[in-house]
Parts: sequence; C-alpha cells; structure tokens
Amino acid sequence: MADKGVNAASNPGLRGVFCNRTLNLRGIRAIGYDMDYTLVQYHVEEWERRAYGHLQERLLARGWPVAHLAFDPALVCRGLIVDTEKGNLVKANRFGFVKRAAHGLRPLEHEEQRDTYARTIVDLAEPRWVFLNTLFSLSEGCMYAQLVELLDRRELPEVLGYRDLYASVRSTLDAAHMEGRLKAEIVADPARFVELDPEMALTLLDQKQAGKKLLLVTNSDWAYTVSMMKFAFDPFLPPSLSKDMGWRALFDHVVVGARKPSFFTTPSPFFEVVTEEGLLSPVVGPLREGRAYLGGSAQELERSLGLSGDEILYVGDHMFGDVKVTKNVLRWRTALVLRELEGEIAAAQAFRDSEERLAALMAEKEALEAEACRNRLDIQRQRGAYAAASGEPEEALQARALALRARIEALDQEIAPLARASAELGNPLWGPLMRAGNDKSHLARQVERYADVYTSRVSNFLGLTPFVYLRSPRGSLPHDA
Ligand code: IMP
Ligand code: MG
Repeated sequence: MADKGVNAASNPGLRGVFCNRTLNLRGIRAIGYDMDYTLVQYHVEEWERRAYGHLQERLLARGWPVAHLAFDPALVCRGLIVDTEKGNLVKANRFGFVKRAAHGLRPLEHEEQRDTYARTIVDLAEPRWVFLNTLFSLSEGCMYAQLVELLDRRELPEVLGYRDLYASVRSTLDAAHMEGRLKAEIVADPARFVELDPEMALTLLDQKQAGKKLLLVTNSDWAYTVSMMKFAFDPFLPPSLSKDMGWRALFDHVVVGARKPSFFTTPSPFFEVVTEEGLLSPVVGPLREGRAYLGGSAQELERSLGLSGDEILYVGDHMFGDVKVTKNVLRWRTALVLRELEGEIAAAQAFRDSEERLAALMAEKEALEAEACRNRLDIQRQRGAYAAASGEPEEALQARALALRARIEALDQEIAPLARASAELGNPLWGPLMRAGNDKSHLARQVERYADVYTSRVSNFLGLTPFVYLRSPRGSLPHDA
C-alpha cells in the first residue's frame, strides 16, 4: 500500500500537508500527538494479520468454524461503513448515498444495490452504521464480511442476526486488544511490526525547540507505549538527548491509557506514572513538566497548560476519537494522519495521462449528447408544429439521431475501461479513499469537516518547519469555469 521509500524532497506531492482550513503553525502553542498509527507507524498488514489471528483464535474457542479463514487486507479499507442491519459493507458519498456495497464477500450488482439503498441515506448518528475509523478497523471489517457468509450458510453454531454478529466481532476484537498477548507479540518483535521513520524525531525536536509544548496522548498502556516509543524514536535522537531520557525528552507531558474519545469530553482524574514499571500515584494540583500520566481529561490538561481551543493542535489517525471529537467539543486545531494517502496519490499520479484522456472523452461525449438533445427537440417541434424548428426533413433529423447515438456508443466503449480503472485506483474493490464515484466520499466529507489539515505522516511537517502558514486552497464550485 504505502510507498515506503519516498522522502519529502523527492516527491513533494506525495508528502504534502493538505489544508482544509488555514493553519498558522506559528500561532500554535502546544501540539498533542496520538501514538499508534500517528507517531508510530505500523506495517498494517502484519499488525492487522496478528490482530485478526487473535480474533480468530477467540472465535474458534467459542466453537465457530473459522479455522479456514485468512486475513485479506484488500477486502476492506478505512472509511467503509458496516451496515449492521443487512450484513453489508458500503461506501457512501459525502451526502450519505451508497455508491458501492458488498454483502459479506459478494459485491452487490448495480440493480441490487439500487433496490437495497435507493431510499437510504447513511447517517452515522444511527446505531445501524459503523464507520471504519482507523487502520485498526481492517481486521474487524474483514472478519465481519467473512462471517456474514458463514451466517448466511447457517454454519455458525449460534443463532444471530447481522447486528449481533457485528457486536460479537467488535467485543471479541476489543478483548484481543485489551488482553496482553497480542501486544506482547508486537513488543517482542517490533522490527516486524513498526515502520521506522527516521525523520519523525527531528520533526518533533524542531517543534519543541521552536517553543511549542509537545504532548503525547495515547490510549495505549504504559509498558506498550514505552516499548514502541523507544524503538521508533530513540535511535534517531541526537546523542545528548538519547543518553539521558531518550524519547521522553521530547514531551512536556505524556498521557497513556487516555481512553479517547472520553478523554476529550468527560472529566476524569489523572494518575502519575511514578516508576518505569508503571506504578501509579494520584495527582494533586496541576500536571508537572516532564512527567507521565495515566487517564485524565483534556479539560484538566488545558488547565495545566494554561492553553485552550485554537492554541492547541492535536494530531491523530482516528477519524472519530482523535479528530472529530476534539474539533466538536474543544475546538482544538486538528490534523489527521492518513497513511494510505501516499500510495493513493502515487497511483493517481501514475494514472494522470489516462485521467486526462478520460476527461477529454467525457467532454466529447457531453458535446454529442447536447447535439442529440437539440436534434430530438427539433423533431418534436416539427411534429407538434407548436414552435419554430429547423425545417430540415424529418428523415435527415432521424438519420442524424442514429449517427449521434452510434458515435456516443463508440465513445462509451473507450470511456468504460478508463472510468473503471479510475474508480479502482488504490483499491480494486472500493476505489480511492476520498472519492465515491466522481464525488467525494463520506470519509472525505468528515476529513474536510473535522480535520483542519491532513497528511500521510507526521514527518511531512519537517520540511514545512514549525513556522509554516498553511493556507487552504480556494474551493471549487460547480459553476466555476
Ligand atoms: P492510540 O492510537 O495511540 O490512541 O492508541 C490506540 C490503542 O488502542 C492501541 O493500543 C490499540 O491496540 C488500541 N485499540 C485499537 N483498537 C482497539 C479496540 O477495538 N479495542 C481496544 N483497544 C483498541
Ligand atoms: Mg492512533
């Protein structure tokens, strides 16, 4: 998926920070970072295959016949929506109209999809729909689709509906994440799971030296956080830092076990992590610099920092838990990390010539269609004799209609494979993350609503410096030339 070897200088298009709302980094006083899939990137296929493996083991232990199933990373992607009423995965456009759907593993044909969803608008506020918010959702989406097939064939030992089936998968994966074994596997072999980014440490150091307070706010536990941060950051710190505190020196406050999104919404006490082993002690008074904490809330964090709202930027990968809630509730500035973006931009760049050809063919088709419409109206007016018409003989008009239809059909033959290839960029089943057909996807809509900026990785800020003024482009409207 992601293009690993690309550095910012060699292809700035891939490594850009893309701006929905103008962000002056100079005015940001504190930057909070999520850890998993934000500061620490994983080889998603490896990580999710192990998560899937643990999920599978637990289902096997319940007597479910899932031994033959295997994780398929191409089956699902971030931004898809589980329709727990019908056992489907759907991709919706920005208005909530379903543009693609699959029942279990079977993509719905156009007719079936229209019959199923013609009167439905996806509204994520309804419990029926579950948005796949992060790369951690891939194992869950894949297993759910596979289990829908088993359920339909009545091969599951329990009598379940599609909704209960989803709830089972969710709670089972939840348990696998919470239990120690999965994390222990990652910690035992970080090189297999973590995708190192040597530019990440310097990106944060520049920001810290520029006077910004840096915070780490992760849902991961203390021991896992220490292992991952050591592995991902310590080798890339200057010797003066790494000798003493290592990665801890980058952060004014570290918060583990944050329980986002409730961290951002609900008051809860902080505990200080007082030993390397993670021993906790209650906190009295404000948070102290250089210390690590567990739990707590954003409200208390703001109070300790003496900062709030648009003075704080939060950077995370979870569409809901990191970005939507911080924007909605706290009005912090927000950055979303979408790791898949690099691979997708590269695919779009490679497809650019074909995309231009497609646009030219579509323009040609539109002109022919307009001509066919005028010709048809001419026939209608001549027959009805209710308005002035061209006066050409009807046979000539009919012949023109046939000729135009033939030319349009010939164009369609050329357009179809190009349009299909364009719709499959990034993922043959579901297409580009941010598009649904010609329109923006539901994910794209959320990104533009809640993320002030988005980018494929945190180190894309390195070349921009901590002083960058990011300006949003003038948005395009249908009536623009
Ligand atoms: P963050 O992205 O740094 O806030 O941390 C994400 C943490 O949440 C990681 O430790 C994940 O293992 C964990 N996580 C991801 N998905 C789930 C889940 O479904 N249930 C419980 N924990 C999860
Ligand atoms: Mg994360």
